[in-house]
Amino acid sequence: IGFVGQYDSEVADAMNLELKRQRRNIELIASENIVSPAVLAAMGTVLTNKYAEGYPGKRYYGGCECVDIVENIARDRAKQLFGAEHANVQPHSGAQANLAVYFALLQPGDTILGMNLAHGGHLTHGSPVNMSGSYYNVIPYGIDDDTHRIDYDKLMALAMEHKPKMIVAGASAYPRVIDFKKFREIADACGAYLMVDMAHIAGLVAAGVHPSPVPYADIVTTTTHKTLRGPRGGMILCKEELAKKIDKAVFPGTQGGPLMHIIAAKAVCFGEALKPEFKAYQEQVVKNAAALAKGLVSRGFDLVSGGTDNHLMLVDLRNFNITGKEMEHKLDEVYITANKNAIPNDPQSPFITSGIRIGTPAVTTRGFKEEDMEVIAECIYKVAADFENSKEEIKAKVEALCQKYPLYE
Ligand code: PLP
Repeated sequence: IGFVGQYDSEVADAMNLELKRQRRNIELIASENIVSPAVLAAMGTVLTNKYAEGYPGKRYYGGCECVDIVENIARDRAKQLFGAEHANVQPHSGAQANLAVYFALLQPGDTILGMNLAHGGHLTHGSPVNMSGSYYNVIPYGIDDDTHRIDYDKLMALAMEHKPKMIVAGASAYPRVIDFKKFREIADACGAYLMVDMAHIAGLVAAGVHPSPVPYADIVTTTTHKTLRGPRGGMILCKEELAKKIDKAVFPGTQGGPLMHIIAAKAVCFGEALKPEFKAYQEQVVKNAAALAKGLVSRGFDLVSGGTDNHLMLVDLRNFNITGKEMEHKLDEVYITANKNAIPNDPQSPFITSGIRIGTPAVTTRGFKEEDMEVIAECIYKVAADFENSKEEIKAKVEALCQKYPLYE
């Protein structure tokens, strides 16, 4: 940032404010993380200058021999990390990865089954406001009203009734293990492709802390910036027999030139994820989420499904008489960052909501442990139960924790 500041103080000042905010705040947004200095550095390199449409060895531009090495490293490490037959590391984002898969395997008007956004699914899994929902005939599936777990029996019934061309598994706000074997059985029973979007849990999967979808799915998509702790971007893994179709659907199907500096950062991230420390990190992410869930439940909070198996939890705030929107704003005031989130069958609109989503990937990267989760649970409780009288006390606790675990120093 200092270097940018020598040339452009306006932008550098804003960047410095953001660095300060990240150092000062407890980051609980479940889809965020804090990348290593090496991943960060890889993004700010001369690779951004290079056009490289095509794939290693088959480019539409000259001078690609060096970026070919980088993309091959990224692809090989991705395959090794997830035990996949083929990897495409070019999608600019998770949404782009999903779009490319649909373009590769579906025709407009085809039927797909995707998890209901209101039950924890993602916009790109068939929401009416997304391209996926307007180009395809989407049948949403969801969770059981009582257990808040995916209702696999209902999913099987929907699959047999509608005979979709593709079933999309994966979620943005689902705190429980997803049974990919069951999804495969259902896809086989109705003759559908199974696509798994593991964006949220990719880091857990890489570390063996959540079962892998790779042996079961025809296609696996992911982002690289959530639990996986890489640069902002996407990736597609698939069986060899679909490799050509997928590569064509990414380029020239839905994207132009790849972001080679980001692909370099993905390669660095995958290298980090192959190390033993990464497994220890992901185990701690899950332990911290369990500790935070326990701390919240013991203070009277209702959690959707009663708890968590992974890196996130959904807090139903209705018994504290506060909306998700209010809670998000109040947490922000005391330097805790989280996002409002609809709970299943939420009586409030998506802009207000009755819940918040909380995740532990970023705080775990900072070094937070179970005992720190107790402090965070107490802060969240005070925000919901006695905000005006507790503001200063909570801020002091947040400040102490952030100083205990410094960021980028
Ligand atoms: N898929 C899932 C399950 C997600 O949770 C997200 C992002 O939140 C995406 C895809 C989209 O990723 P991106 O924001 O990189 O487009």
